[in-house]
This record gives sequence, C-alpha cells and structure tokens, in this order.
Amino acid sequence: MSSQHDASEILKSALELRDFIVDLTLRICRARTVNYFEHDYPGEGPDGMTSPGQEGKVVRILQQELAHAGIPCSVHAKVAGRENLLAGVGRGESGYRRLVVLLHTDVVPAGPLDAWRFSPFEPFEKDGMLYGRGVLDDKGPLAASLAALLLLKRREKDIPGRFTFAAVGDEEVGVGAGIDYLLEQKLIDCTDAVVPDIAGDMKEINVAEKGRVILRVTSHGKQAHAMNPSKGVNAIHAMARFLMLLEHTELRHSNHPILGGPTINTGLIRGGAAPNAVAAACETTLDIRYVPSQTPQGIRDEIAAVAETVQMPGARFDVEIVQSSKPCEVSPEAPLVKRILRHAPDAKIVGSGGGTFANPLVQAGIEAVGWAPGNEATYHEPNEEIEIAQLTTFAGRLANLALELCSEKVD
Ligand SMILES: [Zn+2]
Repeated sequence: MSSQHDASEILKSALELRDFIVDLTLRICRARTVNYFEHDYPGEGPDGMTSPGQEGKVVRILQQELAHAGIPCSVHAKVAGRENLLAGVGRGESGYRRLVVLLHTDVVPAGPLDAWRFSPFEPFEKDGMLYGRGVLDDKGPLAASLAALLLLKRREKDIPGRFTFAAVGDEEVGVGAGIDYLLEQKLIDCTDAVVPDIAGDMKEINVAEKGRVILRVTSHGKQAHAMNPSKGVNAIHAMARFLMLLEHTELRHSNHPILGGPTINTGLIRGGAAPNAVAAACETTLDIRYVPSQTPQGIRDEIAAVAETVQMPGARFDVEIVQSSKPCEVSPEAPLVKRILRHAPDAKIVGSGGGTFANPLVQAGIEAVGWAPGNEATYHEPNEEIEIAQLTTFAGRLANLALELCSEKVD
C-alpha cells in the first residue's frame, strides 16, 4: 500500500474550495490573455490586444494566491510580460515519482462577437455554470488544479515525491515562450504529467496525439486596374480554385489504431490590396493534424502537388511549413494511467487531434497524458462554459491521484 489517505475526505475538502475555484477562475478570465500570430493580425491584435498573450497578467494573480497559501513559486520568462509559473509541494526525496500538472494561461480569440450570447471577457457564474472565454480552456481547470495544490500543501509531509503546478503561456500559438522554453531550461523536473486541456468530463484519458503541421499557402497573380481585370491574374481566384480542390483531397496515410487518419483545416485567409485592384497575392494558413505514417515534409509536398493542378495561366503557388510537431503516444499500461483510472473509473483510453503540452513532454521522455474536467462542446467556440461541479471534482481527484502517485517509487 503506497498511501493510507482517505480519498473521500479529500473530495470533501475540494468541495469546500468551490468558492475559491469560482472566484479565481473569474478573475483570471477577466485578465485578457488572447494569443495569436502577429503575422495574422497586422497592426492590431484581436479582442483589443496590443501584443500576443500577455500571460504575466494571470501569473501575477497566481503569485498573490500562492504567497497567501505559503507555497513558494518561481517565475520564468523568455519574453517579458509572458511569464510562466511553477509551484511545488512534497518532500522531493529521490526515487519517488514526481507529477506535474500543466495548464495554459493563454486563450484563443473570441471571434465574431455576434455569435456570443454574452460578453466573452466579462465572465460570470450562473446556475452552477461558469461562462466566458477561457473558463473551459484552460483557466477553470487551472484554478481547480491550483486548488488541488492547496489541498496537497496541507498534506505535504505525506508526499515523499513531488507535485508541481505549472501555469504556462503560449500554448494556443507556440512561438517558444511557454513549454518549449521551460523544457529547454530544464525547469520541468518530473516523471509524469497530467495536461488538463482536453475536456471530456474526466471520462477520457488521452494517451496519444496526432502530429501537427501548419502550412502557409500563397498564391501569386498579377495586379491590374479593377476596370480591366483581364489584364491581371487574380490571386484570390487562384486560391479559391485551390481550396475547392483541397476540399476533395485525402492525404496518403495508413490508419493508426488509436488516432485514425489525418485532418485538414483551412483556418485563415487574406488577400488583395484594394477593391479597385486585381489581387496580386492571397494567402491561407492550413492546420493539418497527421498520424505516425506521415511526415510534415511529405504532407507539404502533397499539398504543393494539389496547388500545381490549379488550371490558371499566370498564377503560381508557394507552400511552406510554418510550424510542425511530431505525433506522440504513452502506454495505456503506464502507472499514471492506471492511477487516473482508479479515481475516474468511467474513463476511457483515447487519442486526439492533439496539440496539447502532452506532446513536447512525451518527446522529452515524460509520461504525459491528457485528462480534464468540462464538456468539449464549447472548446475554441463562442459561449464558452464549464460546470462548476466538474472543477471541484477534478480538484479532489487530482489531489488524490498526486498523493498516491508521488508515494510510488520509480521502477
Ligand atoms: Zn487549451
């Protein structure tokens, strides 16, 4: 028996932290930390942002909470104003498992406001739910994980290993200011990681993620006066033809047992210079989630081959890789997965299109899986919401999981 604690007692203590979790979630959701590629928003950022992320706003709130609870923390920034925070409890004896829970502090843009029933950055509580950009992804789970840290602080002497809470920036874009920086600086010291960034009402344990490649496709034409369009070559029209072909494109692959096949999303488009000029250039950004039988370069070449089949004299295309990450997988038999199943017995082993922190952690040799509270219905969508009971339950389950796992010896 690795630990003697009473799991139901911790679940009860977590319920008592309900108001703390709600209040903290609302406060950190009010702090706008919208992340975006600067390239995609020339001039001014979305949602009134003057620069991407600004995650330091959330970190400052967390620092106050941790100081109040007497938990030491450290702050690390590659980019000023985009701080990452680490806070740990436990005796930290060698030979024991060390668990980190990683949450991200940035959010995706609100998108068109007319799709929202409320103001995205004025979060609120109503009838057992929280509403606002970030309550689900990932700030509500972040507040719940901080509550778990508080519960564990009270039992610190019963933790021979170590439990670390990590609030990390730059997840939704990934310019190297978040997890990559922490890994480069060797600041993540753990054997196991939970990444509560997949929703699924705690009923999914995500052990595998697809790889990801972001491609920028640019069409080039020839500018001309709008009253004489035939003198030019319209790059927007060329792109339209390419996108029609892309809709019917299936990338070469073999299906993976957990991950299935790849997906292609056209996420952004921009083109032209003025209404009275034929567009000389048009650009779209594709986000492709791929499986282990594919490679980023192979995918780029396939997409370039599709562009080459566009039948439009004078038009040409460039296809470049903006960013890519490899697929990843953890054994469903890993100690962490078995422990989660003890506290979430109705959970299933799954894989996903991915793009969470689990991926770089697994690449770094850490057993990292996704497991999270909240329903995925409003992920990256308008009217984002989460059930408060999901957050309190998650706080208790995470604390129980940490107490047990961090009392286990590393094999
Ligand atoms: Zn997320």
